[in-house]
Amino acid sequence: MITVEEHLKRVLAGTARLENELLPLSEARGRCLAEAAIAEIPVPPWTNSAMDGYALRADDLAGIRDDSPVVLKVVADIPAGSKLNPEIGPAEAARIMTGAPLPDSADTVIPHELTDGGTAQVEIREAIPRGRHVRLAGEDREAGSRIAEPGSELTPESLAAIASAGIGQVKVGARPRLAVISTGNELVEPGAQIRRGQIPDSNGLLVSFLAADAGAAATVDHAGDDPAELEAAIDRHREAVDVLVITGGVSVGAFDPVKALFEGGDSVRFDRVAMQPGKPQAFGRLAEGPLVFGLPGNPVSAWVSFQMFVRPALRKLQGFTSLNTEPVPARAAEDWNTPKGRMQVIPVRIFDGEERQVLPAASGGSGSHLIASLADADGYALVDAEVERVRAGDRVMTVRLRDPEQFNHKKRSTP
Ligand code: AMP
Ligand code: MG
Repeated sequence: MITVEEHLKRVLAGTARLENELLPLSEARGRCLAEAAIAEIPVPPWTNSAMDGYALRADDLAGIRDDSPVVLKVVADIPAGSKLNPEIGPAEAARIMTGAPLPDSADTVIPHELTDGGTAQVEIREAIPRGRHVRLAGEDREAGSRIAEPGSELTPESLAAIASAGIGQVKVGARPRLAVISTGNELVEPGAQIRRGQIPDSNGLLVSFLAADAGAAATVDHAGDDPAELEAAIDRHREAVDVLVITGGVSVGAFDPVKALFEGGDSVRFDRVAMQPGKPQAFGRLAEGPLVFGLPGNPVSAWVSFQMFVRPALRKLQGFTSLNTEPVPARAAEDWNTPKGRMQVIPVRIFDGEERQVLPAASGGSGSHLIASLADADGYALVDAEVERVRAGDRVMTVRLRDPEQFNHKKRSTP
């Protein structure tokens, strides 16, 4: 048996970054930035007005008293988008809108509310300090400064920042192409009538959508338990994908096709990983072809295996600096059993308050076949291999995958 860390290390050692591609910002959301984004222009690009009001020289406000307002001559009108740069002399002002460039000869903007709003001349009753309501060119970032780091995910926020810095295209890691092949004679399409012995294929949906969330472009296929059928399915995809994820058929059953097809060869290796669920794991690479993951077929095992091994590999292919979510400590809210000698990765409900609390998503603990309970999981808990029973109040490490509101749950009170 090998540890989870050892298996992950092997997986990552066998996983190389894909090529980069150049994309317009509008297509780059969620992608991994390949090179630092360097500001082409200052942010903001021009010294401009922070308010609708009047651009003026602060010296002209010096004489304001309660009983004697100042009156300035309005010599220009500067809307947003204007390139005007009128000369503002003593006792003069320009009407200016938010975002419009401040005339070079002005130094202050008096908000509309502190004036009489005049268009030929304007009366001002309140003095404000020099420089007020002025946004300086480059005040947020100077041209040439770093806006986003390579290896980071392009979010709506970072893309907006990059756009503001005058950049229109970014170099990103290519999107991994992935095919999921679910194996098993018992599997039928979701929603199909089942006869005795059959079950709906849930792994196809599960793995392909998890892969999409991790940045891959995923398709789903299926093969029965005849190794020749699996081979044909692999051939349908091997040229077109970077990653093949095969679910089921990796253990010691009499009809396990992944084992039958690859065992003894040198492209895919089979390991027993000290993890519960998800002990049997296969990983390798087809000659001149895609990475191959063989995950155990039980849906919770496939889910756990995806989180622990496939997701980090997909992120590495794209060039992300961080390959998986950092676990956060939490308290167990009840007791549950865990096998000694294997790290338990258990789907949990997570309650975030002053201290994070967790409960197994399936009441009573883990069960790799408990796919319906997976619908209640917010994430997973990691329980050390030496532990035999988790007791209420014990500290466990946890990874949250989704927030309750994103997850369609009512906000839940603590257990
Ligand atoms: P296997 O890993 O092929 O031995 O399958 C282990 C268990 O997972 C069996 O109960 C299978 O019926 C079930 N299983 C395998 N593949 C799937 C799938 N794609 N969807 C749902 N259950 C599956
Ligand atoms: Mg099977």
